[in-house]
Amino acid sequence: MLLFSLQPSNITLLWLASGIGLVLVLRVGALALPVIFLASLLANFPGMRHEGALGQSWHVLIAAAADTLSAFLAARFLNWQLPHGLQRASDLARFSFYVCVLPTAISDMLIVLNLAWGGYIRSAEMADLLRDLILADSLGILLIYPLYQAWPAQLPHGREWGWVLAALLFCTVLLALDIFGVSGWFYFILPGLLLLVFRVQPGGVYLALLLIVGAIVALSAGNRGPFGGFSPEEAHFRLLGFVFTTTFVSLGLALKYHQLLEAQASAEHWYRQALHDPLTGLLNRRGFTPLLASEHQRVKRSLRPSVLALIDVDHFKKLNDRYGHAEGDNVLQALAQVLKTQLRDIDSPARVGGEEFAVLFPESNSAQVAEALERVRQHLATHPLRLGGEAVTVTFSAGYVEFAGGIEGIEQLFEAADRGLYAAKAGGRNRSVAAT
Ligand code: GH3
Ligand code: MG
Ligand code: MG
Repeated sequence: MLLFSLQPSNITLLWLASGIGLVLVLRVGALALPVIFLASLLANFPGMRHEGALGQSWHVLIAAAADTLSAFLAARFLNWQLPHGLQRASDLARFSFYVCVLPTAISDMLIVLNLAWGGYIRSAEMADLLRDLILADSLGILLIYPLYQAWPAQLPHGREWGWVLAALLFCTVLLALDIFGVSGWFYFILPGLLLLVFRVQPGGVYLALLLIVGAIVALSAGNRGPFGGFSPEEAHFRLLGFVFTTTFVSLGLALKYHQLLEAQASAEHWYRQALHDPLTGLLNRRGFTPLLASEHQRVKRSLRPSVLALIDVDHFKKLNDRYGHAEGDNVLQALAQVLKTQLRDIDSPARVGGEEFAVLFPESNSAQVAEALERVRQHLATHPLRLGGEAVTVTFSAGYVEFAGGIEGIEQLFEAADRGLYAAKAGGRNRSVAAT
Protein backbone atom coordinates (compact mmCIF):
# COMPACT_ATOMS: atom_id res chain seq x y z
CA MET A 1 0.00 0.00 0.00
CA LEU A 2 2.87 2.36 0.85
CA LEU A 3 4.74 1.37 -2.30
CA PHE A 4 1.90 1.94 -4.72
CA SER A 5 0.27 4.99 -3.06
CA LEU A 6 -0.49 8.16 -4.96
CA GLN A 7 1.02 10.71 -2.64
CA PRO A 8 -0.17 12.54 -0.65
CA SER A 9 -3.24 10.26 -0.31
CA ASN A 10 -3.33 6.54 0.46
CA ILE A 11 -5.20 5.71 -2.77
CA THR A 12 -3.14 3.25 -4.80
CA LEU A 13 -2.75 2.52 -8.52
CA LEU A 14 -2.19 -1.16 -7.87
CA TRP A 15 -4.18 -2.86 -5.13
CA LEU A 16 -2.74 -6.37 -4.94
CA ALA A 17 -4.85 -6.97 -1.83
CA SER A 18 -7.95 -7.43 -4.02
CA GLY A 19 -6.26 -10.39 -5.74
CA ILE A 20 -4.96 -11.76 -2.44
CA GLY A 21 -8.47 -11.45 -0.93
CA LEU A 22 -9.96 -13.44 -3.83
CA VAL A 23 -7.31 -16.16 -3.46
CA LEU A 24 -7.93 -16.34 0.30
CA VAL A 25 -11.66 -16.86 -0.21
CA LEU A 26 -11.00 -19.50 -2.88
CA ARG A 27 -8.58 -21.32 -0.57
CA VAL A 28 -10.35 -21.27 2.79
CA GLY A 29 -13.89 -20.10 2.00
CA ALA A 30 -15.92 -17.96 4.40
CA LEU A 31 -13.22 -18.24 7.04
CA ALA A 32 -11.16 -15.79 4.98
CA LEU A 33 -13.76 -13.01 5.26
CA PRO A 34 -13.00 -11.92 8.87
CA VAL A 35 -9.28 -12.00 8.04
CA ILE A 36 -9.77 -9.73 5.04
CA PHE A 37 -11.98 -7.43 7.13
CA LEU A 38 -9.32 -7.16 9.83
CA ALA A 39 -6.47 -6.65 7.36
CA SER A 40 -8.39 -3.89 5.61
CA LEU A 41 -9.12 -2.22 8.96
CA LEU A 42 -5.43 -2.20 9.83
CA ALA A 43 -4.41 -0.97 6.38
CA ASN A 44 -6.98 1.82 6.16
CA PHE A 45 -6.73 3.04 9.73
CA PRO A 46 -3.59 5.19 9.37
CA GLY A 47 -4.72 6.74 6.07
CA MET A 48 -8.18 7.73 7.30
CA ARG A 49 -6.89 9.26 10.52
CA HIS A 50 -7.66 12.95 10.01
CA GLU A 51 -11.21 12.84 11.40
CA GLY A 52 -12.55 12.56 14.92
CA ALA A 53 -12.10 9.19 16.63
CA LEU A 54 -15.77 8.12 16.45
CA GLY A 55 -16.44 9.18 12.85
CA GLN A 56 -13.17 7.63 11.77
CA SER A 57 -13.89 4.20 13.15
CA TRP A 58 -17.30 4.24 11.48
CA HIS A 59 -15.85 5.01 8.03
CA VAL A 60 -12.93 2.61 8.42
CA LEU A 61 -15.43 -0.14 9.27
CA ILE A 62 -17.40 0.59 6.11
CA ALA A 63 -14.22 0.56 4.01
CA ALA A 64 -13.23 -2.80 5.52
CA ALA A 65 -16.70 -4.20 4.82
CA ALA A 66 -16.45 -3.03 1.20
CA ASP A 67 -13.05 -4.74 0.75
CA THR A 68 -14.45 -7.94 2.21
CA LEU A 69 -17.48 -7.74 -0.07
CA SER A 70 -15.21 -7.33 -3.10
CA ALA A 71 -13.30 -10.55 -2.34
CA PHE A 72 -16.54 -12.43 -1.61
CA LEU A 73 -18.21 -11.26 -4.83
CA ALA A 74 -15.13 -11.93 -6.96
CA ALA A 75 -14.98 -15.53 -5.69
CA ARG A 76 -18.75 -16.05 -6.20
CA PHE A 77 -18.70 -14.57 -9.70
CA LEU A 78 -15.64 -16.66 -10.61
CA ASN A 79 -17.35 -19.89 -9.54
CA TRP A 80 -20.49 -18.85 -11.36
CA GLN A 81 -18.95 -17.70 -14.65
CA LEU A 82 -15.72 -19.72 -14.86
CA PRO A 83 -16.03 -22.73 -12.53
CA HIS A 84 -12.81 -24.20 -13.96
CA GLY A 85 -10.91 -20.94 -13.54
CA LEU A 86 -9.11 -18.86 -16.14
CA GLN A 87 -8.12 -21.67 -18.55
CA ARG A 88 -8.28 -20.22 -22.01
CA ALA A 89 -7.37 -16.94 -23.65
CA SER A 90 -11.02 -16.58 -24.64
CA ASP A 91 -11.98 -16.60 -20.93
CA LEU A 92 -10.06 -13.37 -20.41
CA ALA A 93 -12.90 -11.02 -21.38
CA ARG A 94 -15.42 -12.78 -19.12
CA PHE A 95 -12.85 -12.96 -16.32
CA SER A 96 -12.09 -9.24 -16.60
CA PHE A 97 -15.71 -8.26 -16.47
CA TYR A 98 -17.20 -10.66 -13.91
CA VAL A 99 -14.24 -11.27 -11.64
CA CYS A 100 -12.28 -8.01 -11.90
CA VAL A 101 -14.51 -5.09 -12.86
CA LEU A 102 -17.98 -6.00 -11.56
CA PRO A 103 -17.14 -6.96 -7.95
CA THR A 104 -14.63 -4.16 -7.55
CA ALA A 105 -17.05 -1.61 -9.08
CA ILE A 106 -19.70 -2.58 -6.52
CA SER A 107 -17.34 -2.38 -3.55
CA ASP A 108 -15.52 0.72 -4.83
CA MET A 109 -18.85 2.51 -5.24
CA LEU A 110 -19.41 1.91 -1.53
CA ILE A 111 -15.88 3.09 -0.74
CA VAL A 112 -16.21 6.30 -2.77
CA LEU A 113 -19.63 7.13 -1.27
CA ASN A 114 -18.21 6.43 2.16
CA LEU A 115 -15.21 8.71 1.53
CA ALA A 116 -17.42 11.51 0.22
CA TRP A 117 -19.83 11.10 3.13
CA GLY A 118 -16.96 11.19 5.60
CA GLY A 119 -15.59 14.33 3.99
CA TYR A 120 -12.34 12.67 2.85
CA ILE A 121 -12.92 13.72 -0.78
CA ARG A 122 -14.96 16.38 -2.56
CA SER A 123 -17.94 15.18 -4.57
CA ALA A 124 -16.29 16.49 -7.76
CA GLU A 125 -13.49 13.98 -7.22
CA MET A 126 -15.79 11.00 -6.91
CA ALA A 127 -15.92 9.91 -10.58
CA ASP A 128 -12.14 10.03 -11.11
CA LEU A 129 -11.48 8.27 -7.85
CA LEU A 130 -13.99 5.54 -8.67
CA ARG A 131 -12.26 4.94 -12.02
CA ASP A 132 -8.82 4.77 -10.39
CA LEU A 133 -10.01 2.43 -7.66
CA ILE A 134 -11.71 0.04 -10.08
CA LEU A 135 -8.61 -0.06 -12.27
CA ALA A 136 -6.28 -0.53 -9.29
CA ASP A 137 -8.40 -3.31 -7.78
CA SER A 138 -8.98 -5.05 -11.12
CA LEU A 139 -5.27 -4.96 -11.87
CA GLY A 140 -4.56 -6.57 -8.49
CA ILE A 141 -6.88 -9.47 -9.38
CA LEU A 142 -5.51 -9.76 -12.93
CA LEU A 143 -1.96 -10.05 -11.63
CA ILE A 144 -2.48 -12.27 -8.57
CA TYR A 145 -5.17 -14.75 -9.63
CA PRO A 146 -3.40 -16.27 -12.70
CA LEU A 147 -0.26 -16.74 -10.62
CA TYR A 148 -2.29 -18.52 -7.93
CA GLN A 149 -3.92 -20.77 -10.52
CA ALA A 150 -0.56 -21.59 -12.12
CA TRP A 151 0.89 -22.52 -8.73
CA PRO A 152 2.62 -24.96 -8.53
CA ALA A 153 1.99 -27.11 -11.66
CA GLN A 154 2.74 -24.40 -14.21
CA LEU A 155 5.73 -22.88 -12.46
CA PRO A 156 8.93 -22.77 -14.48
CA HIS A 157 11.38 -25.57 -13.75
CA GLY A 158 15.15 -25.92 -14.00
CA ARG A 159 16.62 -23.82 -16.76
CA GLU A 160 13.35 -21.90 -17.22
CA TRP A 161 14.12 -19.93 -14.08
CA GLY A 162 17.17 -18.58 -15.92
CA TRP A 163 14.86 -17.17 -18.62
CA VAL A 164 12.63 -15.54 -15.99
CA LEU A 165 15.66 -13.89 -14.38
CA ALA A 166 16.97 -12.81 -17.79
CA ALA A 167 13.62 -11.21 -18.63
CA LEU A 168 13.56 -9.39 -15.28
CA LEU A 169 17.12 -8.16 -15.85
CA PHE A 170 16.24 -7.03 -19.37
CA CYS A 171 13.24 -5.06 -18.09
CA THR A 172 15.32 -3.54 -15.29
CA VAL A 173 17.84 -2.31 -17.86
CA LEU A 174 15.02 -0.85 -19.98
CA LEU A 175 13.57 0.97 -16.97
CA ALA A 176 17.03 2.25 -15.97
CA LEU A 177 17.62 3.52 -19.52
CA ASP A 178 14.24 5.20 -19.37
CA ILE A 179 14.91 6.89 -16.06
CA PHE A 180 18.49 7.97 -16.66
CA GLY A 181 18.61 8.30 -20.44
CA VAL A 182 16.12 8.67 -23.24
CA SER A 183 12.50 8.06 -22.35
CA GLY A 184 10.56 5.50 -24.37
CA TRP A 185 12.66 2.41 -23.68
CA PHE A 186 9.93 0.98 -21.49
CA TYR A 187 7.88 0.26 -24.62
CA PHE A 188 10.23 -2.72 -25.18
CA ILE A 189 9.07 -4.34 -21.94
CA LEU A 190 6.11 -5.97 -23.70
CA PRO A 191 8.21 -7.68 -26.42
CA GLY A 192 10.56 -8.87 -23.65
CA LEU A 193 7.66 -10.48 -21.81
CA LEU A 194 6.29 -12.00 -25.01
CA LEU A 195 9.62 -13.72 -25.70
CA LEU A 196 9.33 -15.23 -22.25
CA VAL A 197 5.88 -16.63 -23.13
CA PHE A 198 7.46 -19.05 -25.63
CA ARG A 199 10.22 -20.22 -23.30
CA VAL A 200 8.72 -20.86 -19.88
CA GLN A 201 5.62 -22.25 -18.20
CA PRO A 202 2.79 -19.70 -17.80
CA GLY A 203 3.54 -19.33 -14.07
CA GLY A 204 6.95 -17.85 -14.94
CA VAL A 205 5.33 -15.26 -17.21
CA TYR A 206 2.78 -14.30 -14.53
CA LEU A 207 5.52 -13.96 -11.92
CA ALA A 208 7.68 -11.75 -14.15
CA LEU A 209 4.59 -9.72 -15.11
CA LEU A 210 3.67 -9.13 -11.48
CA LEU A 211 7.20 -8.01 -10.56
CA ILE A 212 7.62 -5.75 -13.59
CA VAL A 213 4.19 -4.14 -13.33
CA GLY A 214 4.74 -3.71 -9.58
CA ALA A 215 8.08 -2.00 -10.21
CA ILE A 216 6.64 0.39 -12.80
CA VAL A 217 3.67 1.33 -10.61
CA ALA A 218 5.92 1.79 -7.57
CA LEU A 219 8.26 4.04 -9.57
CA SER A 220 5.34 6.08 -10.86
CA ALA A 221 3.79 6.39 -7.42
CA GLY A 222 7.03 8.07 -6.37
CA ASN A 223 6.68 10.31 -9.43
CA ARG A 224 9.70 8.65 -11.07
CA GLY A 225 10.04 6.23 -13.96
CA PRO A 226 8.61 6.40 -17.48
CA PHE A 227 5.58 8.47 -16.48
CA GLY A 228 7.35 10.84 -14.14
CA GLY A 229 7.26 13.95 -16.29
CA PHE A 230 3.50 14.39 -16.63
CA SER A 231 0.87 15.98 -14.45
CA PRO A 232 -0.35 13.44 -11.88
CA GLU A 233 -3.70 12.80 -13.62
CA GLU A 234 -2.13 12.38 -17.04
CA ALA A 235 0.65 10.21 -15.62
CA HIS A 236 -1.85 7.90 -13.92
CA PHE A 237 -3.91 7.49 -17.03
CA ARG A 238 -0.91 6.79 -19.29
CA LEU A 239 0.54 4.42 -16.73
CA LEU A 240 -2.70 2.49 -16.38
CA GLY A 241 -3.05 2.29 -20.15
CA PHE A 242 0.45 0.86 -20.48
CA VAL A 243 0.09 -1.52 -17.56
CA PHE A 244 -3.26 -2.88 -18.75
CA THR A 245 -2.14 -3.45 -22.35
CA THR A 246 1.02 -5.17 -21.12
CA THR A 247 -0.93 -7.33 -18.69
CA PHE A 248 -3.67 -8.28 -21.14
CA VAL A 249 -1.37 -9.12 -24.02
CA SER A 250 1.06 -11.22 -21.98
CA LEU A 251 -1.71 -12.97 -20.04
CA GLY A 252 -3.71 -13.72 -23.18
CA LEU A 253 -0.71 -14.98 -25.09
CA ALA A 254 0.58 -17.10 -22.19
CA LEU A 255 -2.85 -18.71 -21.86
CA LYS A 256 -3.20 -19.27 -25.60
CA TYR A 257 0.29 -20.71 -26.00
CA HIS A 258 -0.19 -23.04 -23.05
CA GLN A 259 -3.50 -24.17 -24.57
CA LEU A 260 -1.75 -24.92 -27.86
CA LEU A 261 1.01 -26.92 -26.18
CA GLU A 262 -1.54 -28.92 -24.20
CA ALA A 263 -3.59 -29.64 -27.32
CA GLN A 264 -0.44 -30.79 -29.09
CA ALA A 265 0.63 -33.00 -26.17
CA SER A 266 -2.84 -34.51 -25.98
CA ALA A 267 -2.90 -35.21 -29.72
CA GLU A 268 0.49 -36.91 -29.44
CA HIS A 269 -0.72 -38.90 -26.44
CA TRP A 270 -3.81 -40.18 -28.25
CA TYR A 271 -1.81 -40.90 -31.39
CA ARG A 272 0.56 -43.04 -29.29
CA GLN A 273 -2.38 -44.72 -27.55
CA ALA A 274 -3.91 -45.58 -30.90
CA LEU A 275 -0.79 -47.40 -32.06
CA HIS A 276 0.04 -49.28 -28.85
CA ASP A 277 -1.46 -52.11 -26.89
CA PRO A 278 -2.39 -50.93 -23.38
CA LEU A 279 -1.75 -54.34 -21.73
CA THR A 280 1.81 -54.95 -22.89
CA GLY A 281 2.91 -51.51 -24.09
CA LEU A 282 3.96 -53.08 -27.41
CA LEU A 283 2.81 -51.79 -30.79
CA ASN A 284 -0.62 -53.08 -31.79
CA ARG A 285 -1.56 -54.23 -35.26
CA ARG A 286 -2.38 -50.67 -36.33
CA GLY A 287 1.08 -49.54 -35.25
CA PHE A 288 2.89 -52.58 -36.58
CA THR A 289 1.45 -52.72 -40.11
CA PRO A 290 2.89 -49.40 -41.37
CA LEU A 291 6.24 -50.34 -39.87
CA LEU A 292 6.23 -53.63 -41.76
CA ALA A 293 5.05 -51.88 -44.93
CA SER A 294 7.91 -49.39 -44.88
CA GLU A 295 10.45 -52.13 -44.13
CA HIS A 296 8.99 -54.11 -47.02
CA GLN A 297 9.58 -51.10 -49.30
CA ARG A 298 13.08 -50.59 -47.94
CA VAL A 299 14.35 -54.15 -48.52
CA LYS A 300 13.27 -53.96 -52.15
CA ARG A 301 16.07 -51.45 -52.62
CA SER A 302 18.65 -52.61 -50.07
CA LEU A 303 18.50 -56.28 -51.15
CA ARG A 304 19.41 -57.31 -47.62
CA PRO A 305 16.57 -59.47 -46.27
CA SER A 306 14.39 -58.92 -43.23
CA VAL A 307 12.17 -61.38 -41.39
CA LEU A 308 8.58 -61.34 -40.16
CA ALA A 309 7.75 -63.76 -37.34
CA LEU A 310 4.34 -64.64 -35.83
CA ILE A 311 4.30 -66.03 -32.32
CA ASP A 312 1.32 -67.72 -30.63
CA VAL A 313 1.21 -68.92 -27.03
CA ASP A 314 0.64 -72.68 -26.73
CA HIS A 315 -2.52 -73.88 -25.01
CA PHE A 316 -3.28 -70.42 -23.77
CA LYS A 317 -6.94 -71.26 -23.33
CA LYS A 318 -5.96 -73.91 -20.76
CA LEU A 319 -3.84 -71.39 -18.85
CA ASN A 320 -6.80 -69.01 -18.78
CA ASP A 321 -9.18 -71.74 -17.67
CA ARG A 322 -6.88 -73.03 -14.95
CA TYR A 323 -5.47 -69.80 -13.47
CA GLY A 324 -8.01 -67.20 -14.53
CA HIS A 325 -8.07 -64.41 -17.09
CA ALA A 326 -6.00 -62.03 -14.93
CA GLU A 327 -3.13 -64.51 -14.74
CA GLY A 328 -3.53 -65.03 -18.48
CA ASP A 329 -2.95 -61.31 -18.91
CA ASN A 330 0.16 -61.59 -16.74
CA VAL A 331 1.50 -64.28 -19.08
CA LEU A 332 1.03 -61.92 -22.04
CA GLN A 333 2.84 -59.13 -20.20
CA ALA A 334 5.66 -61.47 -19.21
CA LEU A 335 6.08 -62.71 -22.76
CA ALA A 336 6.12 -59.12 -24.06
CA GLN A 337 8.83 -58.32 -21.54
CA VAL A 338 10.90 -61.33 -22.62
CA LEU A 339 10.56 -60.31 -26.28
CA LYS A 340 11.67 -56.76 -25.44
CA THR A 341 14.70 -57.86 -23.45
CA GLN A 342 15.85 -60.93 -25.43
CA LEU A 343 15.67 -59.42 -28.91
CA ARG A 344 17.85 -56.69 -30.45
CA ASP A 345 16.88 -53.05 -30.01
CA ILE A 346 16.11 -52.72 -33.72
CA ASP A 347 13.71 -55.69 -33.67
CA SER A 348 10.09 -54.60 -33.25
CA PRO A 349 7.75 -56.88 -31.32
CA ALA A 350 4.02 -56.16 -31.47
CA ARG A 351 0.85 -57.68 -30.07
CA VAL A 352 -1.30 -58.30 -33.11
CA GLY A 353 -4.06 -60.43 -31.56
CA GLY A 354 -5.29 -61.91 -28.28
CA GLU A 355 -2.26 -64.09 -27.53
CA GLU A 356 -0.51 -63.56 -30.85
CA PHE A 357 2.60 -61.52 -31.32
CA ALA A 358 4.48 -60.42 -34.43
CA VAL A 359 8.13 -59.44 -34.61
CA LEU A 360 9.85 -57.56 -37.39
CA PHE A 361 13.55 -58.44 -37.61
CA PRO A 362 15.14 -55.87 -39.94
CA GLU A 363 18.35 -56.80 -41.77
CA SER A 364 18.17 -60.45 -40.71
CA ASN A 365 17.98 -63.83 -42.43
CA SER A 366 16.10 -66.96 -41.44
CA ALA A 367 19.08 -68.53 -39.67
CA GLN A 368 19.59 -65.50 -37.43
CA VAL A 369 15.90 -65.35 -36.57
CA ALA A 370 15.80 -69.07 -35.80
CA GLU A 371 18.62 -68.40 -33.34
CA ALA A 372 16.85 -65.40 -31.78
CA LEU A 373 13.57 -67.31 -31.36
CA GLU A 374 15.44 -70.25 -29.85
CA ARG A 375 16.98 -67.79 -27.35
CA VAL A 376 13.49 -66.62 -26.35
CA ARG A 377 12.28 -70.25 -26.12
CA GLN A 378 15.24 -71.19 -23.91
CA HIS A 379 14.64 -68.19 -21.69
CA LEU A 380 11.00 -69.16 -21.14
CA ALA A 381 11.98 -72.80 -20.55
CA THR A 382 14.45 -71.84 -17.84
CA HIS A 383 12.36 -69.05 -16.25
CA PRO A 384 8.98 -70.51 -15.24
CA LEU A 385 6.26 -67.95 -14.44
CA ARG A 386 4.40 -67.97 -11.13
CA LEU A 387 0.70 -68.37 -11.83
CA GLY A 388 -1.71 -68.81 -8.93
CA GLY A 389 1.21 -69.74 -6.69
CA GLU A 390 2.50 -72.46 -9.04
CA ALA A 391 5.59 -72.39 -11.26
CA VAL A 392 4.39 -72.76 -14.85
CA THR A 393 6.56 -73.05 -17.95
CA VAL A 394 4.95 -71.23 -20.84
CA THR A 395 5.79 -72.20 -24.41
CA PHE A 396 4.99 -70.69 -27.77
CA SER A 397 5.00 -71.69 -31.40
CA ALA A 398 6.29 -69.43 -34.14
CA GLY A 399 6.33 -69.20 -37.90
CA TYR A 400 8.59 -66.84 -39.78
CA VAL A 401 9.33 -65.72 -43.27
CA GLU A 402 12.36 -64.05 -44.81
CA PHE A 403 11.64 -61.38 -47.39
CA ALA A 404 13.83 -59.35 -49.72
CA GLY A 405 12.14 -58.20 -52.90
CA GLY A 406 10.20 -61.15 -54.21
CA ILE A 407 7.03 -61.39 -52.17
CA GLU A 408 4.12 -59.26 -53.38
CA GLY A 409 2.72 -57.44 -50.37
CA ILE A 410 2.55 -57.53 -46.60
CA GLU A 411 -0.70 -59.52 -46.64
CA GLN A 412 1.21 -62.32 -48.36
CA LEU A 413 3.95 -61.96 -45.73
CA PHE A 414 1.46 -62.46 -42.91
CA GLU A 415 -0.06 -65.45 -44.71
CA ALA A 416 3.36 -67.04 -45.19
CA ALA A 417 4.38 -66.54 -41.55
CA ASP A 418 1.01 -67.94 -40.52
CA ARG A 419 1.67 -71.09 -42.58
CA GLY A 420 4.93 -71.52 -40.65
CA LEU A 421 3.04 -71.04 -37.38
CA TYR A 422 0.44 -73.62 -38.40
CA ALA A 423 3.22 -76.08 -39.21
CA ALA A 424 4.84 -75.43 -35.81
CA LYS A 425 1.55 -76.15 -34.03
CA ALA A 426 0.97 -79.23 -36.13
CA GLY A 427 4.51 -80.42 -35.48
CA GLY A 428 3.92 -80.56 -31.71
CA ARG A 429 4.19 -76.89 -30.56
CA ASN A 430 7.06 -75.25 -28.60
CA ARG A 431 9.03 -74.72 -31.81
CA SER A 432 9.65 -72.28 -34.64
CA VAL A 433 9.21 -73.14 -38.31
CA ALA A 434 10.34 -71.19 -41.36
CA ALA A 435 7.70 -70.72 -44.04
CA THR A 436 8.58 -72.15 -47.37
P1 GH3 B 1 -2.93 -73.23 -29.33
O1 GH3 B 1 -1.77 -73.87 -28.67
O2 GH3 B 1 -3.50 -74.04 -30.44
O3 GH3 B 1 -2.61 -71.85 -29.76
O4 GH3 B 1 -4.04 -73.16 -28.22
P2 GH3 B 1 -4.66 -71.86 -27.60
O5 GH3 B 1 -5.54 -72.28 -26.47
O6 GH3 B 1 -3.60 -70.92 -27.24
O7 GH3 B 1 -5.40 -71.29 -28.85
P3 GH3 B 1 -6.61 -70.33 -29.09
O8 GH3 B 1 -6.17 -69.31 -30.11
O9 GH3 B 1 -7.81 -71.12 -29.46
O10 GH3 B 1 -6.89 -69.59 -27.72
C1 GH3 B 1 -6.52 -68.30 -27.47
C2 GH3 B 1 -7.22 -67.86 -26.23
O11 GH3 B 1 -6.66 -66.64 -25.78
C3 GH3 B 1 -8.69 -67.59 -26.44
C4 GH3 B 1 -8.97 -66.35 -25.62
O12 GH3 B 1 -9.88 -66.60 -24.57
C5 GH3 B 1 -7.65 -66.00 -25.02
N1 GH3 B 1 -7.38 -64.58 -25.04
C6 GH3 B 1 -7.46 -63.76 -26.10
N2 GH3 B 1 -7.12 -62.50 -25.75
C7 GH3 B 1 -6.83 -62.53 -24.41
C8 GH3 B 1 -6.40 -61.55 -23.48
O13 GH3 B 1 -6.23 -60.37 -23.78
N3 GH3 B 1 -6.19 -61.93 -22.20
C9 GH3 B 1 -6.37 -63.24 -21.82
N4 GH3 B 1 -6.14 -63.56 -20.55
N5 GH3 B 1 -6.78 -64.17 -22.69
C10 GH3 B 1 -6.99 -63.84 -23.98
MG1 MG C 1 -4.17 -67.96 -31.08
MG1 MG D 1 -2.46 -70.06 -28.75
